[in-house]
Order: sequence, then structure tokens, then C-alpha cells
Amino acid sequence: MNDLKTMIREVPDFPKPGINFYDITTLLKNPAGLKRTLDALKERYKGSQIDTVVGIEARGFFFAPAVAYSLGAGFVPVRKPGKLPYKTRQMEYALEYGTDKLEIHEDAIQPGQRVLIVDDVLATGGTAKAVADLVTQSGGLLQGLSFVIELDFLAGRNHLDGHDIFSLLHY
Ligand code: AMP
Repeated sequence: MNDLKTMIREVPDFPKPGINFYDITTLLKNPAGLKRTLDALKERYKGSQIDTVVGIEARGFFFAPAVAYSLGAGFVPVRKPGKLPYKTRQMEYALEYGTDKLEIHEDAIQPGQRVLIVDDVLATGGTAKAVADLVTQSGGLLQGLSFVIELDFLAGRNHLDGHDIFSLLHY
């Protein structure tokens, strides 16, 4: 898996000085890279009877629907405020750079559904924790959180105690 790192472009000082940005567009445009990434995520959860894959705006949307399709699950978007048209639950969270809010449709997840969260990067873990809380508050049974990249030095998984976490690549 580690050779996938050669397909990920690192952009220093984006979006602001001091942030080393992991650009997964260079992985997505590589046919072999995209296939291996999606296959590996599917492989990890294929026996887990996932009902719903939750993707996080925006870069989680690049992966989550494809993982949902290959698992025979549905896809639910978690979006920035004001984008979802129906009634929502909302959660505030801290980013590696700034703070923000996220929303999910209040009827997107049925109580007892088995849910997998997918995003591109686990950094500080603030985003993933907020989405895990949205899923749990909705009555979903969170089966795991899955990332293409985990930034180990930020220890984001410490915010996600008790949850199963799987990352394809570690930096
Ligand atoms: P966090 O809440 O700190 O775990 O941030 C996670 C979100 O921010 C992910 O959805 C990523 O898309 C994005 N992100 C944070 N840090 C980086 C980084 N160094 N490179 C690329 N994306 C990042």
C-alpha cells in the first residue's frame, strides 16, 4: 500500500503557512491508484454488513459513494451548513485550521442501521468526531471510521476512543 504515497502530492503551506497539504487528486486521477484505494477500503469492510456509508464534504465525497456501491450499501452525505434542504442535525467542530459546522438530514440514518464513515484525511480528528456524534445521535450503529490518509503525529484517533479506525496510509 505504501507505494500509493508516490501518487499523493504534498503541497507545503496550503491553505496557509505551516500546513503540509496531502493532495489526493493525484491519486484519484491514477486509474490503478483509484482502484487499489477503493478495493482496499471495500476489502476491509466486506463482511461487516454495512447499511450506510457516510461521506464528509467535500473530499469524503470522492470516496464514500464508491465504497458504498461496492459494499452494496447506501450513501449519506454530511454537509456544510445550509446545503441540505430538509431538517438537519448540526454539530460544531474544530479543524486543523479553523472551526466549522456540519449537518446531516435528521432522517438520513435509521436507528439500528450499521454505519461506516469515510473521509480522505484523519488530521486532528475534530471532523471525524463530530460526524461520529451525528451518526450516534441519529441512532446509527457506528461500525468504523475509514480514511485514505492518517496523520499520526496529530493523534486524531485519540478523539475517537472506542471506535474502530482504519487508515490505508500513515504519515
Ligand atoms: P481534522 O478535523 O483536523 O481531522 O481535519 C480533517 C479534514 O480536514 C479532512 O476532511 C481533510 O480533508 C482536511 N485536512 C486536514 N488537514 C489536512 C492536510 N494536512 N492535508 C489534506 N487535508 C487535510
